[in-house]
Amino acid sequence: MGTTLDMIGEFGHEKVCFFNNEKAGLHAIIAIHNTKLGPAVGGCRLYPYQSLDDALFDVLRLSRGMSFKNAAAGLPCGGAKGVIIASPAAKTEALFEAFGEAVESMQGKYFTAEDVNTTTDDMNQVMHKTQYVVGRETVSGDPSPFTAYGCFCGIKAVAHKLNGTDDLHGVKIALQGLGHVGFDLAHQLAEAGADLYVSTHSNRKNMEIATREWGAKEISEDEIYGFECDILSPCALGGTINKHTLPQLKCRAIAGAANNQLYDDECGRILCGKGIVYAPDFIINGGGVINAAQEAFTTYNKENVLKQVENIYNTLTEIMEESEQTGIPEGEIAQKLAESRIRFGLR
Ligand code: NAD
Repeated sequence: MGTTLDMIGEFGHEKVCFFNNEKAGLHAIIAIHNTKLGPAVGGCRLYPYQSLDDALFDVLRLSRGMSFKNAAAGLPCGGAKGVIIASPAAKTEALFEAFGEAVESMQGKYFTAEDVNTTTDDMNQVMHKTQYVVGRETVSGDPSPFTAYGCFCGIKAVAHKLNGTDDLHGVKIALQGLGHVGFDLAHQLAEAGADLYVSTHSNRKNMEIATREWGAKEISEDEIYGFECDILSPCALGGTINKHTLPQLKCRAIAGAANNQLYDDECGRILCGKGIVYAPDFIINGGGVINAAQEAFTTYNKENVLKQVENIYNTLTEIMEESEQTGIPEGEIAQKLAESRIRFGLR
């Protein structure tokens, strides 16, 4: 991977804008990757990036991932992402209003939503300045339960690939990150009878509920990569499958909610070589945006959303089958599927 400037060229972004509002404390980037299928949709992440380059690297990868995610799910929208460079402790109404002005200035080409470290409450403040917000409290709400349900459906498809059955009883799953998505997903997996092991960086309260009420067992943050299990489920931050963690892996498959789980495409090739099944992140974690897109582009109907989310099972099954037959990593197959839909304008 070259410089972040090289990345913009290589990924083919349409527009990348930096916003500075000193009074409101806003330093943000909005990256619109592609709008061929429709206005671009992607959440707003708030994170204390160490440098502008770190923020740019993240937003470029995340926005391209949104184009793939939206296209692969057959949604009438393109991909984008916003990042605010700030600590969660620095959140104010003025900050989110300033971000709302930034979104408004994109003239409807970018719809934002909540993401890591932002909430529906924060989006209410963004909406003081723009209408281009999805996942509104009053309509489709928090996308996380839909993301978690899509991951649950995807994990059943992966279990079927490994064991010839969707039944999760006794399937050993190590889940990383008990946040909005991970906590909900852990609950569904526990109810389905999985043998569940969990690690989290914060959210001790969620850990207590998972261990005390659902019978999950706690493992440490470091232990999870080398933990012998059927499925490793990364539900924290991206880039966790990398040259340091790959040699430790003792799982049969990787299937979780986190965006950009693989540090780069080479990691996908290494997983494939090791015979570890990988559920491409932008396929398995599409439930939230499927829900949000219904709100933005059709009349919202929860039953239709759930049907579309459940289809993640079928999409993943087809990708895993093709990977087995061709030896091509699952991520590359998923990317080709998304790219061809974007190229030919297929929804
Ligand atoms: P969140 O911030 O609510 O939760 C993240 C959790 O991960 C926190 O509990 C944190 O303590 C934990 N964590 C961080 N580093 C960790 C580590 N090294 N080991 C163990 N735990 C760690 O975020 P979320 O909304 O649950 O999203 C989780 C992931 O899923 C993110 O990568 C996000 O981009 C992706 N995602 C979320 C949605 C959604 O609907 N929320 C949709 C698509 C993708």
